[in-house]
Amino acid sequence: MQLEDQHFDIWQEVKGQLEMQLEHNTFQEIFESVDSIFKVKNNYIYLIVDNEFIKKRIEMLYLPRMNRELQRHVEEKHEYRLITREQAENALAQEKAFSISSPDEMATKSQIYHQANLNPTYTFNNFVVGNSNRLAYTSSIKVADQPGIVANPLYIFGDVGLGKTHLMQSVGNYVLEGDINKRVLYVKADQFVEDYVRYAAKKKFNEFNKIYRDVDVLLVDDIQFLAKKEKSQEEFFKLFEQLHNQQKQIVITSDRKASDLKDIMNRLTSRFAWGVTVDINRPDLEHRIKILEKKLMAETSETDLVPHHVMEYIASVFDNNVRELEGALKRVMFYCTAFNYDFTIETVESALENLIKPKQNSKDIIKDKIQNCLSVVSEYYNITTTDLTSKKRKRMYLFPRQVAMYLIKDLYALPYKRIGGYFSGRDHSTVMHSVEKISSDLQVDSDVKKDVEKLKQKCGENS
Ligand code: ADP
Ligand code: MG
Repeated sequence: MQLEDQHFDIWQEVKGQLEMQLEHNTFQEIFESVDSIFKVKNNYIYLIVDNEFIKKRIEMLYLPRMNRELQRHVEEKHEYRLITREQAENALAQEKAFSISSPDEMATKSQIYHQANLNPTYTFNNFVVGNSNRLAYTSSIKVADQPGIVANPLYIFGDVGLGKTHLMQSVGNYVLEGDINKRVLYVKADQFVEDYVRYAAKKKFNEFNKIYRDVDVLLVDDIQFLAKKEKSQEEFFKLFEQLHNQQKQIVITSDRKASDLKDIMNRLTSRFAWGVTVDINRPDLEHRIKILEKKLMAETSETDLVPHHVMEYIASVFDNNVRELEGALKRVMFYCTAFNYDFTIETVESALENLIKPKQNSKDIIKDKIQNCLSVVSEYYNITTTDLTSKKRKRMYLFPRQVAMYLIKDLYALPYKRIGGYFSGRDHSTVMHSVEKISSDLQVDSDVKKDVEKLKQKCGENS
């Protein structure tokens, strides 16, 4: 009898015990559908459950009892573990991907994945597309589809937590999925530096080159970490040249534009513009809600457990980046399932208490910075801050006001409506037009450009 079968029988016994001990409803809700064993490994018995909610609930409340019960049926110490149906399916799919005839072949394959240094959970499929990342997304797909041909390098930049690593790794996973023999390598720039230093110290340049030059697709994450590492930049420059000449695909991410990478040699950064540059911005509210919905779907099949207005609430509080948004959702889910609370604004608020409070503090910090910026601008143009932020339409106030709005947008990337709040409640479109007006002035008027640069520096200085 297979281990799994044996444990299936034991589970039926244990389940019977639970049925007697628990309230009827609780038993039905939680345990009724737990009816299969994923696998038995290292004395862990993996039971398949429908979703993350049930998993958490069992783990929080019933696992010790189940394990005690289990112990009465086995000699050695065994423990139950839980796995959601989705996780089990993913694991099976992965195993299948590796299920090749000969063990040798299999070893090579797993080595390939390992060497590529990729996280297989980052895929195009689970990347939610919106205005803020559409171009980056389509460019990445094109690159993954025709590496080395359509855009080389592909340079993706944007603030932290907005999906750069996710997209970049999706490219790698997509390429490998299409052809397991393609050589893909993902590396963080600081890892590249470390590697270089280590191999150089031992003068093992051949080995170093073998790792990095022998690739079809090179993914270099957070290139800004090459800053001030001249030797590594030199080495990366050579690598870049060689791969580029051979039409090997290079994808680079960064927290800023290539031209703003001041501490990286120009010779290198100017080459980043040879291919295609795309940026990723903060997702808007609607997009954030979509992301939450997708993440929720990955966690549970009962997506209507969290009402829409609650999702909207979470999405509206966490407007900064996707990583925070994701973290917030996980926390809410855990909190509500663990304590068996409904998903209401109130429970969400208490679940996120610690996360929201510091955020409000950071809002206060920004508020101070903006106040400072407003006084810098009014001082510069010799008007009062009250006039600057008023609705008065005199020319002498109008231009400084537009400049101030532009600066705030540029420095703090606040939503237009929130900026309007600092100017007697002006609306989204007024602020947007002001920002656009100054942006276009900057292109044609060198005086405006000088003023804005000076002011930007001053605003930065005192904050
Ligand atoms: P970055 O590299 O830009 O700092 P990451 O790629 O690490 O950001 O993204 C942070 C987290 O947010 C990851 O868990 C990622 O899967 C998730 N994420 C970011 N953007 C999206 C998106 N558009 N759709 C789904 N998940 C996203
Ligand atoms: Mg990243």
